[in-house]
Amino acid sequence: MRSKRDRVFVIKSINYSEADKVVTVFGRYRGKFAMLAKGIRKLTSKNRGNIQTFSISDVAYYQALGLPLLIESEQKAYVDFAQLKSVNAQRVLLMLNKLLPEEASNEKLFDSLEVIVNKGVTIEYVNKFRIIFLIAEGLLSDLSLCSKCGDKTQPMHIHKGSIESICNNCLVNDNLEQDKYLTASPQLYSETDFTLALDRYVKKLIEETT
Ligand SMILES: [Zn+2]
Repeated sequence: MRSKRDRVFVIKSINYSEADKVVTVFGRYRGKFAMLAKGIRKLTSKNRGNIQTFSISDVAYYQALGLPLLIESEQKAYVDFAQLKSVNAQRVLLMLNKLLPEEASNEKLFDSLEVIVNKGVTIEYVNKFRIIFLIAEGLLSDLSLCSKCGDKTQPMHIHKGSIESICNNCLVNDNLEQDKYLTASPQLYSETDFTLALDRYVKKLIEETT
């Protein structure tokens, strides 16, 4: 058996037996997959502290017949308990758990996760991650293009329900209700209204897919 290497973000881990865990990760190269971490629940396990939710580790694993087997891990970054339990962290984990397909790598998405773990679970980074995620999965169109005419002229207005962009011209020409839109600005990703609109959008997607 040959071992493989990847850098992984830990999405979740569940107890499998007295000593083992099944760990679901998002690998930079492999995408989302589950692996068996044998003996990891033992106090003496050298991998024990590394495989915690919302941490990033370099791992080596064997591709066995069933689940891949974790051989070794080296933790690169993690968040503290308060950040792990935060609403923002739950926003990230919800999408990775419910909407991310298995075995599809996405290095740009992985990079945005690394930013969150390294720099802090802030709403700005979390919303950027969510937009990258949704566009990559074909669940949202590019926010920098008008969804009606394809124009790129800023500022765009983002619909609070459909999260679609519309340019100023189309907004005025079509007499659209302005209060249904948020005007994009450099602060958009930190805005509460944008965050709540994304929360509703993601919730609806999950309801539709499950
Ligand atoms: Zn337009």
